[in-house]
Formats: sequence, structure tokens, C-alpha cells
Amino acid sequence: LGNRLTGVFDKLRRRGALSDADVAEALREVRVALLEADVALPVVKDLVNRVRDRAVGQEVIRSVSPAQQVIKIVNDALVEALGGGEGDDGKRGIDLNAPSPLPILMVGLQGSGKTTTSGKIALRLRTRDRKKVLLASLDVHRPAAQLQLQQLADRAEVTCLPIVAGQKPLEIAARALDVARRELFDVVILDTAGRLSIDAELMAEVAAVKAFAKPHETLLVVDAMTGQDSVQTARAFNEQVGVTGIVMTRVDGDARGGAALSMRAVTGAPIKLLGAGEKLDALEDFHPDRIANRILGMGDIVSLVERAAETIDQAEAEKLARKMQKGSFDLEDYAQQIKQIGKMGSLSGILGMLPGIGKMKAQIENANLDQSMLKRQAAIISSMTVKERRKPELIKASRKKRIAAGSGTTVQEVNRLLKQFDDMSDMMKRMNKMGQKGMMRGGLA
Ligand code: GDP
Ligand code: MG
Repeated sequence: LGNRLTGVFDKLRRRGALSDADVAEALREVRVALLEADVALPVVKDLVNRVRDRAVGQEVIRSVSPAQQVIKIVNDALVEALGGGEGDDGKRGIDLNAPSPLPILMVGLQGSGKTTTSGKIALRLRTRDRKKVLLASLDVHRPAAQLQLQQLADRAEVTCLPIVAGQKPLEIAARALDVARRELFDVVILDTAGRLSIDAELMAEVAAVKAFAKPHETLLVVDAMTGQDSVQTARAFNEQVGVTGIVMTRVDGDARGGAALSMRAVTGAPIKLLGAGEKLDALEDFHPDRIANRILGMGDIVSLVERAAETIDQAEAEKLARKMQKGSFDLEDYAQQIKQIGKMGSLSGILGMLPGIGKMKAQIENANLDQSMLKRQAAIISSMTVKERRKPELIKASRKKRIAAGSGTTVQEVNRLLKQFDDMSDMMKRMNKMGQKGMMRGGLA
């Protein structure tokens, strides 16, 4: 796909100017490229028509850089179709604007990632939005399903509704809402059962739960890897249950994200979140521009460079890179790094935009980076003495206690930071070995 489009745009660039025939030719290729990216045919047709109308209307033909203009028109149309057009308020996350306890219903096919995403959302709501979250599994069809959610709840450090054998989904939902009301939970996430494919019984069950629980959000969880199939799923759930938003999982895989475009077009529901890994913190906000870039097959390098240029102090980055090469990266440097990451969004998100870096991305995800944690980590490091920052191995039990108290955190968090710093140092050493010089120059290493 990437090659195909690069080919098209190269051709346009060489010509220097576009004729109607050029536009038509470019769009023919774009059409194929979109289909290859798993965008559903009717959606492709619609998009291509829109781009053609716009290109002709704008009379872009004689511009200095026609190829760039075509890229921009295609890209803008994609972004718009993904929900990022004019009037976009940028609020694509979960809508928490409702009285407590606010019910969220998770629906989707089996294996799409509902249970995992429930845990991820719970963690995010607890840590980022400071919400008291109750998780409840309504999946009585798979024996281990309720236990799975219980385990995720433990890891996310939120409450899970105790499992009562023999209850039906509606009974569990009633119990969950009751507990949530009595124990003053802010949010109650109802994780439902799925089937391997859409069937009447599944839909009836989900619809009944929805009618009963009156969720503020009904989130359809769809696996990005299922491509064209996911469109049928989205359509069925939207027609028969009604959804308020979509969570697309497995964007950490190879899928180009074409399904996002189709689902959005078919349901009209916004894509609210992305699942980008199996870990609990692998939940990302949806950025239409990034997915648009991914669908076009050109990576996100352009926006990466733009943002990097805005936020990264070049000299600082080079200093860090040199230190890393010498293996003298310490916690002071780490604090510096945290500040830069904080400005740029998650490191794993940034690296994920670079083509061919999937493997490393997984390693970075293991480092458990998230925004609120970064802030706390910065606080922890600022509570250390200069000596401690330069020689983290000095930090033993009593120092940990002092640092935790000084930063308003816990010894556990101090431990986690030190562990993460170790992991990161290891990773950097490995990256150095792999000779990722280009990234270092950008300050990302
Ligand atoms: P459910 O049947 O819809 O509840 O799906 P689960 O939450 O049990 O997820 C099924 C499998 O997909 C599990 O092994 C998860 O770890 C995995 N999974 C869920 N979300 C993601 C994701 O965003 N990326 C990846 N790589 N795996 C995921
Ligand atoms: Mg499940």
C-alpha cells in the first residue's frame, strides 16, 4: 500500500502540474489503496467522490506542488470522515458528564477485547479521572470470563462485583447497579458476553441489558484486525442495540485502520478509544489524523517531526543521546526525558508511528508509561538528592521512604520508577546496539 501511494505521488511530483486526468488517475490508485487498507467499498466510493469534487472545485491543478495538494485533499477527507472535521471538539474519550453511578456497557463479538478494554478503561478512569469504578462481568457463558474480569480489576486496583454462581446477566446487572448506588461508585462498567459471530440470542441479551441498565455509554469493541468483517459487526450492533462509541482494539497489530473509517461511516458513532496492546495501560485516545496517515500508508512521520520540532530541545536531545552512547544516562537525564515525553504524548505512541518498530514498541509498553504516572515520577525524582539521581543504586529502603514522603508518593511507586529506569536504560543500550541513530538525533532515544 505504502509503495503504491508513494508511486502515485512520485508521479504527480514529477509532472509538477495536475490535469483532470491526473486527478482521476491518482484517485483510481487511491481507491485501490483504500480497499487494500480494508476500507469497505461503499465508503471508498463515497470518499473518492468527495475528494474528486473537492479537487475540481479547488482548481488545484496548476499549483506549485500538486502532489502535496492531492495528499492534503485525500488526507483531509480521510480525517473528516474519521470524525475530525470541522466542528470537532476533540472530545472523543468517554463522556463522563452524567450523574453517578454512570453505567458503561461494553458490547461486541467474543475475543474482540471487551473484557480487556473494560479493565483498561477502569484503570484510566481511576488514575486519570479519579473515579471510583465498579467492574461487573455479565458473561455467564464462558466459565472463566468472570474470573478474568476479577483479575483485571485486581490489577487495575478497582472493585469487581463479587461473583455469584447461577445468576443471569440481567440479575448481575441489577446487582451491579444496586451496589454502585449504595456504595457510591462513580462509574459501573458492565462487561457482556460475546459470540463468535452475530446471532439473535446475543443481540437479544445485550439489548435487554441495555434497556435495563440505561447505560450512558454503550461502547462497541471491535478488533481492527478483522478488517471488512468488523463493518458488519458494527452495523448489526448499531442497528439492534445502538452504540454511542467505538473502541478499536489491536491497533498494535498490522491492520492499517481502514476498518475505523468504515465503522465510523456505517454507524455514525465516534471512535472513542484505541486498544494498542494486551497491557492494561495500552489504551489510547483516538486521533483521526494519525489513523488517516496510517490508512494512507505513509506513517505518521510528518506529524511526528512537527511535534518533535515543537517540543524537543535539540541541544538537550543531543546531549542525552551522547550520554546514552557513553552509558552514563542517569535519573537526572531520565527526568529530562520524562518532561519531553510528557509534552509529546506517550513514548510508545510516538514510536508506534515510525514504520517497522513494532517490536521495540512492545518493549516500551512493558515500561508502563502513562501521563499521570510521568508527573508523579518527575515528583519522585525531584525529591531525590543530586547524588541519588546520579547513582540510583544508592537508593535503599530508608532513602526510598524519605523520597516517597517528600514526593507525596509511595515506596511502591519509587520502586516502580527505579525498575522502569532500569528497563529504560536496558532498552537504550539495546537501541544503541541496533544503531537507531536517526531517532537519537530526533531526541527520542
Ligand atoms: P472479549 O472476549 O471481547 O472479552 O476479549 P478479551 O478482552 O478476553 O480479549 C481477547 C484477547 O485479546 C486477550 O488475549 C487479550 O489480551 C487480547 N487483546 C485485547 N485487546 C487487545 C489489544 O488492543 N491488542 C492486543 N494485541 N491484544 C488485545
Ligand atoms: Mg470477555
